[in-house]
Amino acid sequence: MIRVLVAAPIHKDALKLLESSGFEVIVKEYPSNNELVKLIKGFDALIVRSKPLVTRDVIEAANKLKVIGRAGVGLDNIDLEAAKEKGIAVFNAPGAPTNSVAELAIGLMLAVLRKIAYADRNMREGKWVKKECLGQELHGKILGVIGMGRIGRAVARIAHHGFGMRIIYYDIIRCPREIEEELKAQFLDLETVLSEADVITIHVPLTPQTKHLINEERLKLMKPTAILINTSRGGVIDTNALVKALKKGWMAGAGLDVFEEEPLPSNHPLTKLDNVVLTPHIGANTIEAQERAGIEIAKKIIGFFKGK
Ligand code: NAD
Repeated sequence: MIRVLVAAPIHKDALKLLESSGFEVIVKEYPSNNELVKLIKGFDALIVRSKPLVTRDVIEAANKLKVIGRAGVGLDNIDLEAAKEKGIAVFNAPGAPTNSVAELAIGLMLAVLRKIAYADRNMREGKWVKKECLGQELHGKILGVIGMGRIGRAVARIAHHGFGMRIIYYDIIRCPREIEEELKAQFLDLETVLSEADVITIHVPLTPQTKHLINEERLKLMKPTAILINTSRGGVIDTNALVKALKKGWMAGAGLDVFEEEPLPSNHPLTKLDNVVLTPHIGANTIEAQERAGIEIAKKIIGFFKGK
């Protein structure tokens, strides 16, 4: 019998799917590294989320492991090199969080432009800050998408069809013509996107090429009325430069779900700025995204063992 160790919480329907396919499923949520090294023996498959770490020690201790499934996207907690050396397959569920992250990006745009979080904070202190809460609409504005992949396109779709925004974008790969036509999206260089957009939303992966892609020089290109949304990875923006840009009014505000240092330190300068809305890396944190991720990974593991 194929034995699956589920080392992180995954959706109950994904567990049922594995069991109904005849697999033995053992759930042990977030074991420590030492525990996982001991536990892994005898398992054919391992399912994780962004935790626990699947280190070389774990992979070397495994005697039957053939596949690791990551119920989500990022594979940074898995030692891919060690897995490759042992011929262990690694799967993820890259499409699962797309809608959730896209909707959060739109939520952050609205929260920044309509000062929703600022208003809420003040209401709780008994302050009626109506005058300070003069906002801006999304309708008819220019959305600049940096990284027009799965999430970038999903954001552009909501923004274009739902808010009548004009879409401009930058990517290393140009979108297929039908996507550009559907979204009336214009492909431009990074500097032009930064200088023309009213709302900039970042959806590139963190790679050596995208590390601090948004630096001081580029932040200076933004319109003083424009806002920046980041739901990709914190390292894509130079945080010190961003704090400077926000303080000096080179831009109007920012909505951030991801940070160079996570958790964000409690006294971080970003937490002192009223024109910033902060969320604790919750882009993929929805019931639907987690359900999709669990089911997609369960299906991939079943397919792997059943030769599909
Ligand atoms: P994707 O691979 O579909 O899209 C990424 C896009 O970025 C691609 O079109 C690619 O061509 C482009 N790109 C890559 N390198 C580039 C560069 N140097 N310059 C310009 N463009 C570049 O990925 P996705 O599913 O849309 O996810 C995007 C990112 O969102 C992920 O890499 C991840 O870091 C982040 N993410 C965050 C959360 C969250 O919880 N906030 C959840 C899921 C994903």
